[in-house]
Amino acid sequence: MKILTFDIEDWFHIIQKYPDDILEKWSNYEVRIHKGMDRIFELLLDNNINATFFCLGYIARKHPEVIKKINDYGFEVAAHSDMHRVVYTQSRKEFKEDLQTCMKRLENITGKKVISYRAPSFSLKTNNVWVFDVLHELGIEYDASIFPARREDGGFMNFKETGPSIIKYNGHSIREFPMSTNSFLGTRFTSTGGGYFRFFPYRLIRKLIERSDYTMTYFHPRDFDSKQPMLDGLSLKRKFKSYYNLDTAYIKLKQLIYDFDFIDIQTAAKQIDWDNVPVINIDEKGNCT
Ligand SMILES: [Zn+2]
Repeated sequence: MKILTFDIEDWFHIIQKYPDDILEKWSNYEVRIHKGMDRIFELLLDNNINATFFCLGYIARKHPEVIKKINDYGFEVAAHSDMHRVVYTQSRKEFKEDLQTCMKRLENITGKKVISYRAPSFSLKTNNVWVFDVLHELGIEYDASIFPARREDGGFMNFKETGPSIIKYNGHSIREFPMSTNSFLGTRFTSTGGGYFRFFPYRLIRKLIERSDYTMTYFHPRDFDSKQPMLDGLSLKRKFKSYYNLDTAYIKLKQLIYDFDFIDIQTAAKQIDWDNVPVINIDEKGNCT
């Protein structure tokens, strides 16, 4: 099972600090989302494949036509927060308000209930698992926020499953599509999303996918935009991850789509026998059993 997903945000949604005038700042930046979306749409429509799009409420507010197009083409519109704040900087109340705002903005455009979610920067960690409570309260059925390897903004190392699972938390359950990982010398890593996809040679990525039963991907319009401006104030590591190999990434994506059959989350969800997937109990400290 190979799942194709995109996180729909503009080139400047990689910031980690949120000053009070953030909306004004963002409004002054060049808008590049349309060009990025056109390339993605072209690729998917030409190859007749489906994908899930985790969208920011911010994009729905500023560029509703982008969300409308995703929906009109028949792709799943899913939630990726309103303002792309990482989860661990928010209280439960702030998180809920932000996600609710995002969902309302998306649902007002598509007329459909949003049922899938991915946290910004996979920022679901063991100390903010209350997120699962909020997702349940808001009617989210599918989560794709677990990144079971080390990363700067998140990483849920307690999670040992390598495929779709049911997470039980506080008496309710949610269907989880974790980020897929491979293991090398006991270290888990991923190669099928964002900066990781741009970093690893395609031949290696293809081999890793061929060896796996389950592949989750995540791409952003900016991953294929070599002409995007560079944001000030990023750490060196962040700069490298954000801007490395932008010029060849689109060709790699084309090749990936040519080499493998991808489906979206809803198609995958129908194919899975949910009575026979691993069930992971997570407690309030993020322990998994
Ligand atoms: Zn994002």
